[in-house]
Amino acid sequence: MTVPSQDRLEQTRGAMRASGAEALVLTHLPNIFYLCGFSGSNAILLVFGDAIHLFTDGRYTIQAHDEAPLARLHIVRTPLAEACGEFLRSRLPRKRRRAAFEAASLNFAEWGRLKKAAGQGIRWKPTTELIERIREVKSAEELDLMRRSARLASEVVAEAPAFVRPGVTELEVAAEIDYRLRRKGASGPSFETIVASGPRSALPHARPTAKRLQKNELVVLDLGAILRHYCSDLTRTVFLGRAPARIRRWYQAVEQAQAAAQEALRAGVTAGSVDRAARRLLNQHGLGRYFVHGTGHGLGIEIHERPRVGRSQKQEIRAGYVVTLEPGIYVEGVGGIRVEDEVAVHADRIEVLTTAPRGLLEL
Ligand code: ZN
Ligand code: ZN
Repeated sequence: MTVPSQDRLEQTRGAMRASGAEALVLTHLPNIFYLCGFSGSNAILLVFGDAIHLFTDGRYTIQAHDEAPLARLHIVRTPLAEACGEFLRSRLPRKRRRAAFEAASLNFAEWGRLKKAAGQGIRWKPTTELIERIREVKSAEELDLMRRSARLASEVVAEAPAFVRPGVTELEVAAEIDYRLRRKGASGPSFETIVASGPRSALPHARPTAKRLQKNELVVLDLGAILRHYCSDLTRTVFLGRAPARIRRWYQAVEQAQAAAQEALRAGVTAGSVDRAARRLLNQHGLGRYFVHGTGHGLGIEIHERPRVGRSQKQEIRAGYVVTLEPGIYVEGVGGIRVEDEVAVHADRIEVLTTAPRGLLEL
């Protein structure tokens, strides 16, 4: 296990200072992992200017020692928010001290416990995406893990001809994908694997069902691995049989839209301009109205991270970002086509992390 760099903590403290907070209560587990290395399922991390304190329960004593050597450990029996609040009360005794918390992840019950245990003297400041903004830019080490995670998922997609065929169910294909991901070293899939066939492929986020794959159908495979905590995400579309001319045309349009997005993606542009490049291409083919979602999203420790690559996003793309580019078209009653790859942005170029072949796969 590698200990997260001190640099992340320094950036966090900079953001705390900017918001006037002397303490930061982190409850979003991916942010806790990012800052201290602890990957258990029950934790609060308290960040001060001079130390970090990790609150967890007895199940995680050994793991917390191993994973988070830089944090002061508090193994507690009471609800974590209560223990954290009591500690805050003792650490920030004077009146009108300011503590920040993560508004999007602290639930109502925990918030009540935290506030009650911390007492009157603290002014609370809700924050959103404080750590998420720092996580946008990946370090060389993170990028290396993401490269490997993307390659692993790509290998599984490249093996699709071995298990995607008429007669098997979507669930069987999904099970095969998940099995192969693990066999290659993933700790699991990075989200519920999507296998959507025939008209169901027109549902961008379809869950696999007991439906059997049939000849002359489209099949969308959308999958990713978690490798040492880092997610990958890619989509390939398969046609079972020889694709008719219309499907080929559509597929080419989606492929071109993705190429246009890749062309537009570089450090310094807005996320919106990348989305619009893909959209423009599909509009030119008369398919724009079938493109019902954004062009992509950032990813890393989580499958969906900042930035969103959507049409009105003004956020600037910076070196160190990793985003998916995944234009698709979804035609009700017929099916869907999506091509998704993961791309890292460097100062002077982009790097496609997913390595699976991109053309229409006819099986
Ligand atoms: Zn995906
Ligand atoms: Zn995606």
